[in-house]
Amino acid sequence: MSYPILEIDLKKIYQNAFTLNSKCLGQNISVSGVIKGANGLIEIAKEFEKANLAHIASSRIRELIEVYNSDITLPTMLVRIPMKSEIENLVKYVDISLNSELETIIEIEKECKKQGKTHKVILMFDLGDLREGYFLEENIIKTALYIENNLEFVKLHGIGSNLSCYGSVVPTKTNLTTLCNIATKIENKINRNLDIISGGATTSVPLLFKNKIPKKINNLRIGEAILLAVDLEEFWNVDMSDMYKDAFILKAEIIEIKTKPSHPIGKLFIDAFGNKPIYTDIGKRKRALLALGKKDIGDHDKLIPIDKNIKVVGSSSDHLIIDIEDTTEFYNIGDIIKFKMYYQAMLFSSASPDVSIKFKYNTL
Ligand SMILES: *Cc1c(COP(=O)(O)O)cnc(C)c1O
Repeated sequence: MSYPILEIDLKKIYQNAFTLNSKCLGQNISVSGVIKGANGLIEIAKEFEKANLAHIASSRIRELIEVYNSDITLPTMLVRIPMKSEIENLVKYVDISLNSELETIIEIEKECKKQGKTHKVILMFDLGDLREGYFLEENIIKTALYIENNLEFVKLHGIGSNLSCYGSVVPTKTNLTTLCNIATKIENKINRNLDIISGGATTSVPLLFKNKIPKKINNLRIGEAILLAVDLEEFWNVDMSDMYKDAFILKAEIIEIKTKPSHPIGKLFIDAFGNKPIYTDIGKRKRALLALGKKDIGDHDKLIPIDKNIKVVGSSSDHLIIDIEDTTEFYNIGDIIKFKMYYQAMLFSSASPDVSIKFKYNTL
């Protein structure tokens, strides 16, 4: 197996999924396990199923088709608004989708009729994050009623919202209550309960832990908090001590070790990506160059060296520069450096054709 290697500990992912699911179920909230952060790896979806999550979710139909073709029996959920051009596959392979355009939903109805299948939709409402979803209450209610009263094959499954993605808006009791109130209005008009009121993603978990999620919310769509579990502790001050934060370990090989100045020499302009980084002169430092680059990880500051005395200095497409001046370890050419990571590095490394993926089982 060639380096770089992304080592994925499936037992830790199972355990994280189980732990978070138990906490959610304790508040009558089902969990849709979102696999898109790890390129939809089927091995991960299988752990989600073992941990009894409610759905396997992704933004990419390709990943859900792989789930469909596996022995996984959990219902699948497309969490990106479907393209009109993918409706045939949507109806064929996916059970539930998040939607915000009646025009598209009507196309889904036609395709369902053609294939003799039903499809469940969750209508999205925009609580202010300004990505997907109806912005006006009257419009989401109108679409809900249209589906309920006019469509035969498309089933109104529920409503949902997404926060913190574009607008960085924090999920609160107040904005989620707005979603619940819309759900109640729809339920009163259709004379039945909606099956799903989906109150967001990983960033809604802090509210859950503080017992502040409105009672009516009965589903969350969670990826990061299960796979990596690093964001909530780091940025949201949430105690995640009962979750594993090292289910994903990236291992890269040292190809050069030299002592060099910390400030570039010559007239500075822009780097390989057109940016103008700031370089601080801290004198000569011992550095290692790793065979790993932006192409594999995105931004280098999304890596967390396991040796705490190593500092990530910079990167280009195919190289990563680390400072090893302060470490007590003795590193040689050919040695392997290990990193934990934030979401972006998982997203890129799990999908990079140059990164080998290695699964670990039963390691707790
Ligand atoms: C990606 C996504 C999620 C999952 O997000 P995490 O931060 O990984 O929990 C949930 N819902 C939607 C609509 C998404 O696009």
